Amino acid sequence: MPDPAEMLANNRLWARDVVERDPDFFHRLAEQQAPDCLWIGCSDSRVPATQIVDVPPGEIFVHRNVANQVIHSDLNCQSVIQFAVDVLVVKHILICGHYHCSGIAAAAENERHGLVDHWLRNLVDLFESHRPMLDAVKDDKRRRQLQSELGVIQQVSNVSTTTTVRDAWSRGQDLHIHGWVYDVADGLVKDLKVTLGPDSDNAAVINQAIRKAGEAALKE
Ligand SMILES: [Zn+2]
Repeated sequence: MPDPAEMLANNRLWARDVVERDPDFFHRLAEQQAPDCLWIGCSDSRVPATQIVDVPPGEIFVHRNVANQVIHSDLNCQSVIQFAVDVLVVKHILICGHYHCSGIAAAAENERHGLVDHWLRNLVDLFESHRPMLDAVKDDKRRRQLQSELGVIQQVSNVSTTTTVRDAWSRGQDLHIHGWVYDVADGLVKDLKVTLGPDSDNAAVINQAIRKAGEAALKE
């Protein structure tokens, strides 16, 4: 694992390499950012937003926190969403959770870890509300994956009910919210088919996504 001095040296090499391939790259980026997507993902070191979907700097506006949560009283995340939707006018908000998530595991086990327990409390409550579905999945690994998926679906719902997004949709803004889950074991992103937009029946889409996630976990 590189230390900070090595990271700075790596940075010099990376910037030089980018300029060799595209001499105008940094000049263009310095003028402005105009990303079409806001990414809300986990802080986990194994889930770097731009890298796993292979897009260069400038393409995705990123917010990350423990277990990729959107909580209505979190001024940080709410400000990111407001800036992205109202100022950058992004077209897509991508909620990307992941399997093998320490935050999901901590919430699932409901053990004491300190201050972070407060942050994870919404997930503890979420899993409790889906207790029969989760208990029906006997395989521990698959049940934990389902918990990651339920977490993403809930965050998609939470984004859709923010004042920022509701106002954007009432203005007719072209904005869609997507729920994805990334598997750190194979590098693949799965679409949870919970895409919400200005014209979708959001409650129906969310309920169907929850049902399908539960059914899929039972079958596997
Ligand atoms: Zn995580």
